[in-house]
Amino acid sequence: MTSKKLSSQMKNHHENFRDTVNLIKNYAIFTLDLEGHITSWNKGAEFIEGWKEEEILGEYFDFLYPNNEIETGKPQWSLQTARDEGIHEEEGYLKKKNGDLFLADITISPMHDENNLHIGYIKVFKDITERKLVETRQLDANLLLKQEIERRKTIEADLTRSNEELETFASVASHDLQEPLRMVVSYLQLIERRYEEKFDQDGKEFLHFAVDGANRMKLLISDLVEYSRIDTLGKPLTQTDATQALQRATANLTVAIEEAHTQITYDQLPVLRSDPVQLTRLFQNLLVNAIKYRREEPLKIHIGVEEQEQAWIFHVEDNGRGIEEKYLQSIFVIFKQVGKRAERTGSGVGLAIAKKIVARHNGTIWVLSTVGKGSTFKFSIPKLVTKKEENNDQYE
Ligand code: ADP
Repeated sequence: MTSKKLSSQMKNHHENFRDTVNLIKNYAIFTLDLEGHITSWNKGAEFIEGWKEEEILGEYFDFLYPNNEIETGKPQWSLQTARDEGIHEEEGYLKKKNGDLFLADITISPMHDENNLHIGYIKVFKDITERKLVETRQLDANLLLKQEIERRKTIEADLTRSNEELETFASVASHDLQEPLRMVVSYLQLIERRYEEKFDQDGKEFLHFAVDGANRMKLLISDLVEYSRIDTLGKPLTQTDATQALQRATANLTVAIEEAHTQITYDQLPVLRSDPVQLTRLFQNLLVNAIKYRREEPLKIHIGVEEQEQAWIFHVEDNGRGIEEKYLQSIFVIFKQVGKRAERTGSGVGLAIAKKIVARHNGTIWVLSTVGKGSTFKFSIPKLVTKKEENNDQYE
């Protein structure tokens, strides 16, 4: 091959290369002479920077940098490091024709001729403002997520602590309060037995109130203790036949059910993951209430279930006196009782216990009711095994 042919081929290659470089739009690619004057400027540079090639050819390239960077001599320094180290890479702000600044990913490398003589520089950069923004947002999102996880951990730790505190308080209360209370009750009973005849009608009534008050206090304390131990003394969740749990509950309430001439019906209930003792307790508390808050007419209670993809939704339906709409939420709060004071026989803990049992199963409990017609208590028990349960399983 003759040297003429070779040089025309190289010229072709060179022009092809120039054309290709010119077409690249996402990257600014341009060349500088040894002093830093612009000697070529591709379409990408024009697109990103805003200057056309004819406007800036021959200009000293520092006009691309923000003023303070020119003051620090950064443009010249970047050429020097490219020359000394073979390449210079940096991330920094550059200026557009309209004065806007943008963040650029910049590479400068020295250019040599065929005799390896250093003849200038090639500079390539890309606008990465958008990418950085996305990265920063991602970082922010990750940070927020981490903070949220931390916040939940703190809440969970606080909850565990307050549950433990409640249990400690309740067991101290039960021990320290029940002892003197037992004394009050037994001496009141003794007075009732031995001296009742000596009391006039008022005296008998006062004595009766005193015994009644002491008994209620005993009930309150034992219910509070039971409430406080739902989380700490609960059994691991195991496959439980809900029909059997319900039957145990009705067996425990035989006398009350018969006395109220209750007609109880129920659907086929599923086998599900739960604490069998607590599931029985849950049904029992709802049944006791249905019996307590019945109307004059024959009491009917139906227990049904609806299967959803993620959970079982149970319902306990009665034809009792119903609950006013304004109380539908608050009746689940501990010690909250509604209705006529004289008819408040319990301690106001039954539904709070029910709610805590359902929560321990990661479910929710709510009620629908019409005054004078009846109430339907509904609760969900998720089918999924949660992390917490898996951990519990390790101790089974
Ligand atoms: P308690 O029965 O000891 O008062 P609960 O926490 O079990 O406490 O119930 C709270 C209140 O909710 C009750 O005082 C009662 O007014 C109301 N309630 C609960 N269940 C029913 C029901 N099935 N029908 C009507 N009212 C109910």
